[in-house]
Amino acid sequence: MADTIEYADLPPGDASGDLLVLIEDHIYRAYLHKLVGEDGLQIVECMPDEEVTDEYVAEITGIGLNTVRRTLYLLYEHRLAKYRRERDPESGWLTYLWTLCVENLDRALESETRKLLRKLEERLSYEKNNIFYACVNGCARFVFDEASENNFVCPFCGAGLEFMDNDRIVITIEKKMGELSEAL
Ligand SMILES: [Zn+2]
Repeated sequence: MADTIEYADLPPGDASGDLLVLIEDHIYRAYLHKLVGEDGLQIVECMPDEEVTDEYVAEITGIGLNTVRRTLYLLYEHRLAKYRRERDPESGWLTYLWTLCVENLDRALESETRKLLRKLEERLSYEKNNIFYACVNGCARFVFDEASENNFVCPFCGAGLEFMDNDRIVITIEKKMGELSEAL
């Protein structure tokens, strides 16, 4: 089992406000990135508070108009953006004026934070309820039963498996969970 901790591999640092912002920002970005991709994330970050047209967004971000439209509709479908239509009395053309639904974005972020907290909680109990052995060459980490089945020999490189203290991982997860809870 690979030893990766989602979201937990942030700079250790102290429990300063900066770190909290970083974590919030990290979740925020991860959430939006999953939803609308890299360009979409840039669009969301550039959207001003007032109503804007898709052309304007394309202009200030330098992102293609089609991508801007696709992103805005995707955000709209998730209730993260809304639009108002205005008809030009002379030409009869419709203009779509877009704004982000910031409060829904906050709510989505909160639900994402709770999801992450549950994942970390599962991970914490896994860390606390197992004893780990790791390949001395750093290939992988195994729980006791797996290590024992392999006679404490790494199945990937044949080197020995040694007991691995996971205190640091436990502390990191607990700290991260504390910070996330505070952010809610
Ligand atoms: Zn190995």
